[in-house]
Amino acid sequence: MSSRPRVDTTKEIAQVIVDPKTRKRYQRGKFLGKGGFARCYELVDPDTKEVLAGKIVSKALLVKQHQKEKMTQEITIHRELNHKHIVGFSSFFEDADNVYIVLELCRKRSLMELHKRRKAISEPETRYFLQHILLGVKFLHERNIIHRDLKLGNLFLNDEMEVKIGDFGLATRVDFAGERKRTLCGTPNYIAPEILAKKGHSFEVDVWSIGCILYTLLVGRPPFETESLKETYTRIKKNEYSIPKTVGPLAKSLIQRILQGDPNRRPTVDQVLHDDFMTMGYIPIRLPTSCLTMAPRFDTKMNVSIVARRPLLEINKDSAPNVAGAKECAASQPETAGEQQRANRDCYLKELHSQLKKLLDSSPADRPNVEMDEAEDPAAVPFLWFSKWVDYSDKYGLGYQLCDDSIGIIFNDSTKLLLLANGEDIHYIERDGAEHYHTMNEYPKEINKKVVLLKYFRNYMNEHLVKAGAAMKPREGDELSRIPSLRAWFRSRSAIVLHLTNGTLQINFFDDHSKVILCPMMGAITYIDEKKSFRTYRFSLIEEFGCSKELASRLLYAKAMVERLLTSRSVSAASASAKSKVAPTPTAAAPPSAH
Ligand code: ADP
Repeated sequence: MSSRPRVDTTKEIAQVIVDPKTRKRYQRGKFLGKGGFARCYELVDPDTKEVLAGKIVSKALLVKQHQKEKMTQEITIHRELNHKHIVGFSSFFEDADNVYIVLELCRKRSLMELHKRRKAISEPETRYFLQHILLGVKFLHERNIIHRDLKLGNLFLNDEMEVKIGDFGLATRVDFAGERKRTLCGTPNYIAPEILAKKGHSFEVDVWSIGCILYTLLVGRPPFETESLKETYTRIKKNEYSIPKTVGPLAKSLIQRILQGDPNRRPTVDQVLHDDFMTMGYIPIRLPTSCLTMAPRFDTKMNVSIVARRPLLEINKDSAPNVAGAKECAASQPETAGEQQRANRDCYLKELHSQLKKLLDSSPADRPNVEMDEAEDPAAVPFLWFSKWVDYSDKYGLGYQLCDDSIGIIFNDSTKLLLLANGEDIHYIERDGAEHYHTMNEYPKEINKKVVLLKYFRNYMNEHLVKAGAAMKPREGDELSRIPSLRAWFRSRSAIVLHLTNGTLQINFFDDHSKVILCPMMGAITYIDEKKSFRTYRFSLIEEFGCSKELASRLLYAKAMVERLLTSRSVSAASASAKSKVAPTPTAAAPPSAH
């Protein structure tokens, strides 16, 4: 996946795209990302204002006959499909330069980005995603279509966190009952053993991929992963994989049922839907978007009413390892417990430091690349960043707002209080990380003073501060939501440095109001320059293509700030060092209102 072929951008894509046959026009919007052949943009239908996704493939890249055939096959198959869990197909057309495919927009990216941020996810979340995947694939198989490349990156997510299966580039239609397909142009990610053995394959290859997806979601890494593709293929052929003890018994037996070398022994999609793992455990009806970066909480009233059949304790046990013990940082691979604990303690700071060191050692600014288009990867955009902050740490603490409109305060006693985007739910986090969930109307007396302060901070920020970055729509009733909290912060002479428990590090520069948001999980940096342009670059691509001097100097500064965070012994030590530098009241502190 990392070695994607580079897309040739010889011809600029027009601002307004016209379907030559129907004369229908689309306004080209935000860049969404590039794949093997395609560049994807948001497309706005000016008549309906509907925002869609446009996959644009330059004809210059479709030179070989089999490439053209593949594209035709993709369109022929996908255009006929209409299902809740399949990316909607709106239209396709071509002009002299490009082929255009207009699709349903999936704003929350794919399960690939979710996996990179979260690693192992809980069983209820896994069941939720798997159910969507299975319903989509059942629909395909009923129509005699094999997808043949089911993988996390092809399982897109919309704003409702519903899975939409996409990318039919390797799909094929089974023409008669019992037909075994013999050819496949391309290499599926979760390739089944019968494809490797060239024995002829059919629907069972999708079930195999689903088994690999199930394993990857629960364990945090794929079942047959090795250093080299060759060795991975050997393992697949020998059916060599092991299931860590952290995986529950029902999940384990489903994985074993699916990942059988003999395709005839694997269950059908419908049988997987009726497997005990799917039917005996809790499946949330909806997941909050905070799941993209944080493990959800499974303790709410809503859950209890849905899952009356099982005691609450068991449900939470189920969702280990991330949720159990209310650990704040995203969990990593359960097998490397030591490593995970370390990552938990510093919330990926060391990881971020080594990524920055590696990147800066490659001297990216020696190859100045002013436009930096090549290094851009919108798929790595952060979901949460700081939009406002108020430093009142001489008396109480630091208050802030995240871009989803949630609010947090880190008090001088190192406790934290968060108010979620719905304006209702509050999370109180003790010094040791223990979390307590309350609401604005119902909370224990002991935190009364802190809730009063929270309201004060909220009103202050609403009235006085301009929000940084575009607004995000809060979703009502996200009772499963857990959002990251501020782990540590300090002010240097030229910037404020904020570190979230999900690993995100943000630096707001005072002089030009530029900001950087760094994410070690995605290996990416977002740069909001003084003109408020907001672009996300991947470290690996900056290493490959270079970056502007401007960004390089911010990367260097970020590395120094990470070092400072790493050497300050505790959270309070980090913020204490800043205390003396701040103005005495929030009004006077009037933070360079982040924008
Ligand atoms: P590939 O060529 O690797 O199959 P795609 O052309 O499917 O890649 O997608 C390229 C990029 O565009 C991906 O990074 C993906 O995040 C984004 N993308 C593709 N389809 C959609 C969609 N329907 N909605 C939003 N983003 C999409």
